[in-house]
Amino acid sequence: MINFTVGPVQSDDCVKAIGAQDTPYFRTDEFSQVMLENEALVKEFAHAPEGSRTVFVTGSGTAAMEASVINTLDSNDKALVVNGGSFGARFVQLLELHGIPHTVIELERGCPLTSEDLAPYENQGYTAFLVNIHETSTGIRYNPELISEFCKRNDLYLIVDAISSFLADPLDMEEWGAGIVLTGSQKALACPPGISVVVLAPAALERVERIPMKCMYLDFGLLLENGLRGQTPFTPAVSVLLQINARLRELKERGGAIAEQERCAALAEDFRARIAHLPFQMNLSSPSNAVTSLLAPTCDAREIFETLKDEYGIWVCPNGGDHAHDSFRVGHIGNLTVDDNIALVQAFDALVQRGIIH
Ligand SMILES: *Cc1c(COP(=O)(O)O)cnc(C)c1O
Repeated sequence: MINFTVGPVQSDDCVKAIGAQDTPYFRTDEFSQVMLENEALVKEFAHAPEGSRTVFVTGSGTAAMEASVINTLDSNDKALVVNGGSFGARFVQLLELHGIPHTVIELERGCPLTSEDLAPYENQGYTAFLVNIHETSTGIRYNPELISEFCKRNDLYLIVDAISSFLADPLDMEEWGAGIVLTGSQKALACPPGISVVVLAPAALERVERIPMKCMYLDFGLLLENGLRGQTPFTPAVSVLLQINARLRELKERGGAIAEQERCAALAEDFRARIAHLPFQMNLSSPSNAVTSLLAPTCDAREIFETLKDEYGIWVCPNGGDHAHDSFRVGHIGNLTVDDNIALVQAFDALVQRGIIH
């Protein structure tokens, strides 16, 4: 199969080789060294400010979202949250569940965030801002400079879900003034699912100190304390952490986060140019490099997905809910090449011949 979904994505050989081995015992100096290196490389790739820390949570990206809400926000906060799709809706649900006072900035599906959207919330006593910088469900990447300036002006603690954006799009935690940046193992890190990664700037660390523990398993205090010696409080997804290490080292050798962003950008650009002749509408108002969102109003998008999967050995990324039949997405993260793009476009052309794409 060629996998154009947005996660889990294709891994390269060094990551797959680790998956074929037994999981080693992890309360050792050797594993601690791996974890300390993971922390250092993630901070480097996220441009984390001086004094930041990184923790590795065993759980998918949503675990990091929930942990960030319960460890760094409380009922004294007044949060703003951007809801432009299903991941924005997840943050809203978490704030509701955990009793954090909040206001939702509802965006029309597929629309970028604008200064008009933010204007009503200037100087209104807000304390925190939550955003999925790339709303993966629509392919829209919000403008980080716009958000960053708004947060700095209003002294807001900024939580950035960069789960599908880390390594695919530019990311500068220090310049943005972000308190927390989140990612996960199965997106552009291109490892199996199981680990989510949280980078905490000093503003977030101060909140962790102040806010009492609400959930033992997801407690940042315990993760931070154990992380000082390269360990975790409980048994982590050991093999995935070893795979993350191999991947981070490989990225470092190949020119770091910037080189990988450029590779994703080139793949995305190549794909977008190759499909100009097809009857798909691309929403390119503010696209992430991680994915291209395609509207296929004259076709059945679910049929395209099923046929490519069953007959052509290709996974594209279907949409759920109301948009299952009129749109789908094509990812550009993980171990993909221009040749894979060519194979996908050939398959699209075959579906045109068969009348499935029209
Ligand atoms: C993938 C993703 C998540 C996390 O989803 P999980 O299924 O829990 O890994 C969260 N936010 C965004 C923007 C994502 O793309």
